[in-house]
Amino acid sequence: MYKGCMPQEMLSVVMPCYNEEDVLNITWQRLRDTLVKLEIPWEVIFIDDGSTDRTLEIIQALRRADERVKYLSFSRNFGQQVAYSAGLQCVRGSCALLLDADLQDSPEYLRDFIKKHSEGYQVVYGIRARRKEGWLLRSTYSLFYRLMSSVSGTVMPRDAGDFALIDRVVVDAINSAPERNRFLRGLRSWAGFRQTGVVCERAARAAGEAKYNLVRLTKLALDGILSFSYVPLYAFSYAGFVVATASFGLMLAFLVKKLIVGTEPTGFPAQICTVLFLGGVQLIGIGVLGLYIARIYDEVKQRPLYVVKESAGMSSATEQSAKHGI
Ligand code: UDP
Ligand code: MG
Repeated sequence: MYKGCMPQEMLSVVMPCYNEEDVLNITWQRLRDTLVKLEIPWEVIFIDDGSTDRTLEIIQALRRADERVKYLSFSRNFGQQVAYSAGLQCVRGSCALLLDADLQDSPEYLRDFIKKHSEGYQVVYGIRARRKEGWLLRSTYSLFYRLMSSVSGTVMPRDAGDFALIDRVVVDAINSAPERNRFLRGLRSWAGFRQTGVVCERAARAAGEAKYNLVRLTKLALDGILSFSYVPLYAFSYAGFVVATASFGLMLAFLVKKLIVGTEPTGFPAQICTVLFLGGVQLIGIGVLGLYIARIYDEVKQRPLYVVKESAGMSSATEQSAKHGI
């Protein structure tokens, strides 16, 4: 019996899968080996995020071989953050491990995570030591994490992804947040309690292709910033204040020049540039407002977060709430 976890406690692993037929069996083997070595009760909840390949078939086969495998299958692709959220709603254990299917984060770190958890941390997240992605993606990530930590109202650790072990109390806190545009690592930080990081080597994908392209990453970054920061909104108020003050100063300078020196200001190009510049700033400002309003609209519509096509192994109450995406 591994010391970190009480015998009666169960660990739930939540794994979103979108077209992961190439890697899923390898991931399952590594994860199961790790779990078996820990000698604690466990369940693995797969969320098939509307895969169009054999992912669901593989999961169904795993379920037939082992009852501790449970799954939800979405009616279409709803996105990784929604898939994780759905999985968290089904968690029955006293702890949950959030793990991507592609083995970029090694399940073997679970042992270190549990050790930290037993020291009294309710959240133990992986800190990405070295990234194996290309330099463009790496620097974009780095820029995002720095931007995020400087504008966000919630203090979030840098270079920490979704890979984490979280205690039941934090699972419940995250589940109680009803928002539609979900940025889980933000919600995780927002939940509070004692949180710490473990430095993890981040491998390249074991097989298959990354599902995040630049558009999806931008959407995730925007969700992160807009859900946890008002700085973009405030920035335009500050900019407006600065421009108004500067233009008032300029007006005074022109007045003084006219009254004392007697020359009138000329300069058509300067006027055009100023008008265009201010027009541009205003449009960006309206755009930022639009981003927030779109998100408010999403929340007001109160649509279910996802639609379940099929599920197995959930308790009937969980199944009901999971089916309706609430
Ligand atoms: N994923 C998902 N739905 C999506 C995109 C991704 O469930 O729409 C899953 C994917 O199967 C994987 C995890 O989320 O288990 C991370 O995806 P990926 O490795 O493509 O992201 P990256 O590591 O590039 O951020
Ligand atoms: Mg990945």
